[in-house]
Amino acid sequence: MTNPNNILTDSFGREHTYLRISLTELCNLRCTYCMPAEGIQLSPRSHIMNFDEIYSIAKTFVDHGVTKIRLTGGEPLVRRDVDVILKKLASLPVELSMTTNAVIVDRYIDLLKECNIMNLNVSLDSLDAVKFKEITRRNDFEKVIKNMHLLIQEGFNIKLNAVLIKDFNDNEIIDFINLSKDLPISVRFIEFMPFDGNKWDKAKMVSYAEVMEKVNSSFDVSKVIRLQDAPNDTSKNYKIEGYKGSFAIISSVTNPFCDSCNRIRLTANGRLKNCLFSAGESDLLTPLRQGKDITPMIQKAVHSKLKIRGGMDTMEKLEAPDLHGKNRSMITIGG
Ligand code: SAM
Repeated sequence: MTNPNNILTDSFGREHTYLRISLTELCNLRCTYCMPAEGIQLSPRSHIMNFDEIYSIAKTFVDHGVTKIRLTGGEPLVRRDVDVILKKLASLPVELSMTTNAVIVDRYIDLLKECNIMNLNVSLDSLDAVKFKEITRRNDFEKVIKNMHLLIQEGFNIKLNAVLIKDFNDNEIIDFINLSKDLPISVRFIEFMPFDGNKWDKAKMVSYAEVMEKVNSSFDVSKVIRLQDAPNDTSKNYKIEGYKGSFAIISSVTNPFCDSCNRIRLTANGRLKNCLFSAGESDLLTPLRQGKDITPMIQKAVHSKLKIRGGMDTMEKLEAPDLHGKNRSMITIGG
């Protein structure tokens, strides 16, 4: 039952039990759809939450009903004190998970296990080394593939996230799904979303419907099985009969899942974003540093969450660059 008095319940009755924390604005990749070519203006170091502040804010959320925390970035594993942060957060009664590009994850296997972070989302947008380099502007394809296999071997649950971009990697949809034939992974296709400086164009996006058209024309339709989605799941899940793994589509653009949204985001510089698409943010770090109680700010931010995609409730609004241009680049939000 929704508790309207909970500070994490918004004006539409949505309870926010899932917090995503960005640990850093830094990344070891330079994905073209995630950050502008000219780079981003990094926050001064002193404006980034330290590990005690991350813990303190996370604890406040957990005390008010957050049950799941996902760590992201930037690349969360490039943060120097990631070990201290993970160990501190692991002491909270909360399910911890992480989104990573997996480039250096092999160095952290023991730490992740120790902190019981067994659910990892790994980002990989192409199965072709040349295209990987084109999109990430880095040469780390072999490392990512090797690390993905290592993670599976070490018992981690892997969701492989691929952002689909028309005429770039949409010809790899079936290859990606075929990875799930022998590997127990969930391959998830993400609709390309607009953020500041990522040159979004609806024509570059590959929609849920287009993915399913490809799937249905490539596989025997009777073998394409629609799976039950978990509550608050952002993905539509499927499986090819007989395959070890599954695949899914995250259709934030064509089929937003705002009605059941339970997510809220904390940026590395301590700002709360009540929606991935909202341009507005609430500073929690400054009041925390002033010794103030941050719960009123959290309540206000949650309560002001708009019904659909930060107010971009129509495709026309989503396509208006002056609206999504005010939002941060994904790299500084924490996807
Ligand atoms: N560095 C980590 C990684 O690569 O997974 C975590 C941060 S990254 C910003 C998190 C996720 O956001 C990645 O899966 C990435 O593909 C996704 N992402 C970034 N920009 C996006 C966009 N414009 N549309 C859709 N997904 C995007």
